[in-house]
Amino acid sequence: MMDECIFCRIVSGKIPSQRVYEDGEVLAIRDINPQAPVHLLVLPKAHVASVSDVSKSDTQLIGAIILAATHLAKTEGLEERGFRLVINAGPEGGQTVPHLHVHLLGGRQMRWPPG
Ligand code: 5GP
Ligand code: ZN
Repeated sequence: MMDECIFCRIVSGKIPSQRVYEDGEVLAIRDINPQAPVHLLVLPKAHVASVSDVSKSDTQLIGAIILAATHLAKTEGLEERGFRLVINAGPEGGQTVPHLHVHLLGGRQMRWPPG
């Protein structure tokens, strides 16, 4: 566990969050600064800095994160309406927290290109 990482501190409960899903390896929380009516973050409990750091041995973990995200899209009522999954990576990708997370955004019309 990385003590200084904000999402690791959320995983350990040192920083409070609104948890919406949790299993042995994945945690989903509501984003503190939502950009849509539904804005969740789905992250591995273990520290992985970026999607760029994902390796073959993480294949199952990445699958579990995507499955949690689509499960949550259903429970949030977005299955028929549609939704967006986003992974920001690095400075130009707009990543601000260096702990891998998938954004689940929905509840409004998404635009393209995404700015
Ligand atoms: P990124 O910009 O790295 O793709 O996404 C980071 C996200 O984490 C942002 O949408 C930001 O609002 C969210 N965030 C940052 N700090 C916290 C926090 O302490 N709690 C929660 N729930 N979300 C956070
Ligand atoms: Zn971390």
